This record gives sequence, structure tokens and C-alpha cells, in this order.
Amino acid sequence: MTATLDTPSSPDPLCQGASDPRLEGIRDRLLRGERLSMDDGDVLYSTPDIWGVCELADMVRRRLHGDAAYFNINRHLNYSNVCALSCKFCEFYRKQGDEGSYTRSLDEIRAEARSAVDAGATEMHIVGGLHPFQPFEYYTDMLRAIREVAPSLHLKAFTAVEIVHLAKIAKVFKRDDRTAGIRWVLEHLKEAGLGSLPGGGAEVFDDRVHDEAFKGKIRSDVWLDVHRVAHELGLNTNATILYGHIEDRHERLVHMDMLRTAQDEALARLGYQPDASGAITLTRRGVRQPTPDMSERGGYFQTIIPLPFFPDGSELEHLPGPGGLENLRTLAVARLMLDNFPHVKSFWIMQTLDMAQLMLQCGADDIDGTVVWYDITKVGGADTHQETTSVDLQRVIRGAGFQPIERDTLYRRVIRDGVEWRLA
Ligand code: SF4
Repeated sequence: MTATLDTPSSPDPLCQGASDPRLEGIRDRLLRGERLSMDDGDVLYSTPDIWGVCELADMVRRRLHGDAAYFNINRHLNYSNVCALSCKFCEFYRKQGDEGSYTRSLDEIRAEARSAVDAGATEMHIVGGLHPFQPFEYYTDMLRAIREVAPSLHLKAFTAVEIVHLAKIAKVFKRDDRTAGIRWVLEHLKEAGLGSLPGGGAEVFDDRVHDEAFKGKIRSDVWLDVHRVAHELGLNTNATILYGHIEDRHERLVHMDMLRTAQDEALARLGYQPDASGAITLTRRGVRQPTPDMSERGGYFQTIIPLPFFPDGSELEHLPGPGGLENLRTLAVARLMLDNFPHVKSFWIMQTLDMAQLMLQCGADDIDGTVVWYDITKVGGADTHQETTSVDLQRVIRGAGFQPIERDTLYRRVIRDGVEWRLA
């Protein structure tokens, strides 16, 4: 069976001022700090009262973060767009030798790192295609080269898909014991300077959707293995959901449920006790939030980042992609379902700054950073130079009624004086 995106194409009934008494029961459960069920999730997705859903997400978000909203000063580095795979939804990849294909040299990467430091960045976010010919040492050398010229930069690098690819090119990936190869890669990368993992490559945790749209990429069990091993090694990670293509809304909820189960396990390793239902929720009043120590040892998911699918330029160009209301709703639902994720990010590059501002009022507490170069998705035909300033980010946050807080990658407060910075 082929499911289609069940996003309404006619105006949302919200526009007719509908409200939904079913949200009252959900509100009561949230006020008691209880975990929402999958049935609750179905209600959140099916109710015409989208603003009621956003209001609940805002309530939870304020309980966790008050009026703080986070941003950071960062750089993205897409080291190569050469990829062994050809995912239908991807407009980024090229084959080796194709027009527009590139692979950054270590000298280019060093120069990028220096320029990031000169601009006051605290983080470099590094992802790329699955290059079929670069040796494993290219990746460890890349981290070491950046460390050498820019020791203050936190290196958030390589999605789970890349980690498995690296295990294969290092010839340590064994199908009967894949964890061992993943651990080997992560240990070597960590030793070279890896600070945390981004959340990309998760797409939607459903085998039907995966095989139809992401065939060849790792499935959910392998993605979750990579993040579990990273957590066991004390690395923090993020998670994404790429929605609005061939999945339906319930499949998004299944994805969120799998993530919160994985986070329960991560938090249990850090000493959190489950409640009577077996859940570990962070959204109850007074619950201690996980924070990495000064040695940067962590071991949990920090942030969920809902990413809308952009059909332009991909093999799924015939699909409409999600609209603004669906983006708002999905972000709010993520805030409500993922009660053990400390943060929800509206990634402005894919949502736009205007939407990011709205999303701050619908459950988001973070709008990412200054970015500068981003080659993966070009919203509205943008080129790879997609830069905003910290002044703009703060204006957007204040405009939404929140207090901007500059953070580092691990959500520790940054005290800044021009390009100089230190942790609070
Ligand atoms: S999504 Fe990633 S793995 Fe798939 S083709 Fe694009 S770069 Fe390659």
C-alpha cells in the first residue's frame, strides 16, 4: 500500500475558529506531568484546533525554559557533496566528476575553521555525502586539522548515516555485530576531536517509507544503534524527523515514540528513575534537566529538530511538501510527545526566520545559529551562502516575546564580548 501525506489541502478548519474539548484531557495529563499516548498524538494531529495544540506546546516549553530562547554562533561545513547513494528526496548529492561536485581539501577546511573563529563562532557543524573513495583518515585528519587551528570550536560532526559509511570504508562494519564497528569509528573520531553528533539522516522510522524514499540509507534500528553507542561514549546527540513526503501523520508519531524510548534508555544510564508507567519525563515541574559536565561528558539526546521536506530538485518533486500550518503543528506535536527531550529546535534555514519566530510561540526554544554556508537545502532557490547575524537572530527572538540566550553546542550559556567568548 502506498500512503500519501494526509495534510489537508483546503484551509485548516482552525480558520473557522474551531476548538476541541479532547484537548482538555490532554492538558490535564500534561499538567500532571504524564506521558502522552499515541492516541493523544493522533488527537493532536487530527484536531482542527491547531492553536490549542500550539498553546499546549507553549505551556510545556515555558515550564522547561521560561522565556529563554536559544541561538548560537556557528558555521556549517559541507565537506563534500559526492555521495555513493542517490536518495530520491535529495537535491544535494553529485557523483564524482559531475558538474558541481566538490570535496574540500584539508587546507580549505583549515581556512574555513580560521574564518569561523575570526567571526566568533563556538561551533562547527560538519556533514557531507557518503564519499565512496575518501579513506577513513580523511575524516580524522579533518577533525584534527580544525582542532589544530581552532581549538575553541566544538565539532558537531557526521550523521549516523555517515558514521556507518565510515565504518564500512574503515572495514570494521560487521553485519552480525554492527555495534562494534560503530563504536570503533566513534572512539577514533572522538579521539580526533569529535564533540557531538548532529541528528540528520533519521528521516522517518518506518520500513515502508524508508524503502520507498530512502532505500540504501540505514534503517531506524541502525540509526538508533549509532546514537546509543554515542551516548554510551558520553557524546550528546540531536535527532531529526524529515516529514511531509510519503509518510502519514501516524508514522511520524511512531518515529517520535521510538526516539523517546531511546531517550528513556539514555536518561536511565545517567541515573534518572522511570515513573510508574516506565517513562522518564523531563517536563514535570521541578525535574532536574540533564547537563553535560565541564569535561563535556554527556550521553543523551539534546534536541529534536523537525525538518520539512522540500520537493524542489528531488525525485519527489511531484509532491507538494508540507505547508506552514502543518509545519507549526508538527513542531508543537514534537514538543508535546517528546517529553524527555530538553530542547526543540526550529531550524531557520529550512523553516525561514519568519516561521522560526512563529514556532517559538508553538513549542520551539531554539532557532539554531548564524550558519553562513549551507548546501543541503536551498529554500526558495537560495544559494549556498545562507548567513544571518546574531543581531538578526536576537531580533527574531525578541519579536516573538522571548529573551535571547546565546548557547554553546551543549546548551551552556555563552558570555560574549565581540568575537571573544567564554562559558558562563
Ligand atoms: S541524503 Fe545523504 S546519503 Fe542520500 S543522496 Fe543525499 S547526501 Fe547521499
